Amino acid sequence: MTVHSLGVEIACDGPTGRDDCPDNAAVRAAITSRTARQVRADGRRDGWTVRPGGRDLCPRCAKST
Ligand SMILES: [Zn+2]
Repeated sequence: MTVHSLGVEIACDGPTGRDDCPDNAAVRAAITSRTARQVRADGRRDGWTVRPGGRDLCPRCAKST
């Protein structure tokens, strides 16, 4: 049996950092992206940002804060 890596999914932490994003968004990772760093790079292309403290915000939440 072979175990395949599913890669890394970066979920939006929402505007407050306490609740999940209402949209429960996640970065669309390229098939070649395997690490968190690579997936975040994918997200930045779509407008994702990382706030101080390491919170990830999807494009919608980044605009609302
Ligand atoms: Zn969000």
